[in-house]
Amino acid sequence: MSIAKNLTQIKSQLPAHVTLVAVSKTKPVSDLMEAYNTGQRIFGENKIQEMTDKWEQMPKDIEWHMIGHVQTNKVKFMAEYVSLIHGVDSLKLLQEINKQAKKHNRVIDCLLQIHIAEEETKFGLDEEELNHILTSDDYNNLENIRIVGLMGMATFTENQNQIEKEFNHLKTIFDKLNTIPFTQKLKPNILSMGMSGDYQLAISCGSTMVRIGSSIFGTRNQKNEKI
Ligand SMILES: *Cc1c(COP(=O)(O)O)cnc(C)c1O
Repeated sequence: MSIAKNLTQIKSQLPAHVTLVAVSKTKPVSDLMEAYNTGQRIFGENKIQEMTDKWEQMPKDIEWHMIGHVQTNKVKFMAEYVSLIHGVDSLKLLQEINKQAKKHNRVIDCLLQIHIAEEETKFGLDEEELNHILTSDDYNNLENIRIVGLMGMATFTENQNQIEKEFNHLKTIFDKLNTIPFTQKLKPNILSMGMSGDYQLAISCGSTMVRIGSSIFGTRNQKNEKI
């Protein structure tokens, strides 16, 4: 199947309130352009250098989402143009994003990543760490970031019950976050969860943003996939 056909098929299944991030990591610009030409405007990448190369080459009405783990010293390379950073998991990173955003006189939207999987290797905050950040003075002083929601990744398993449990856990934290008053920098509307293998389940658990790669662009060459 072609990229255009895959995209059309996936989009036809998504409810109107769910945003599709086309995860294009490791794929060439020609593949992204095929998606662009069918109307896709949101692309997700997990390496800053690769995302910046593509941003430079591609039309400027694209929204670039950083979905990978972000190293503090690399924030400066995407601060000018990134639309949404999904994997923010520390106050230190938030402070650096704020600092770089300020240099470009802009506010950068961020999702806080919550650790919901069993694997130790997946990044993210637990609920206590999340609350710690949101109640800290350091966070309060940041003026060039906005927390627009949460992101999470389920355990890599065939066990649907477990994945569902993890998605529900994230949704519960998201709902709690929505009970505290919104401010300039806290407007948590987005719940980013679900990938090619589990996005339907994620949507049934309350996801509002799905990150889909291989079901659109085909499988990736594993060698290019180091994070
Ligand atoms: C690669 C990646 C995806 C997309 O994975 P697929 O299984 O190819 O859809 C989604 N989210 C994150 C954080 C990723 O790194």
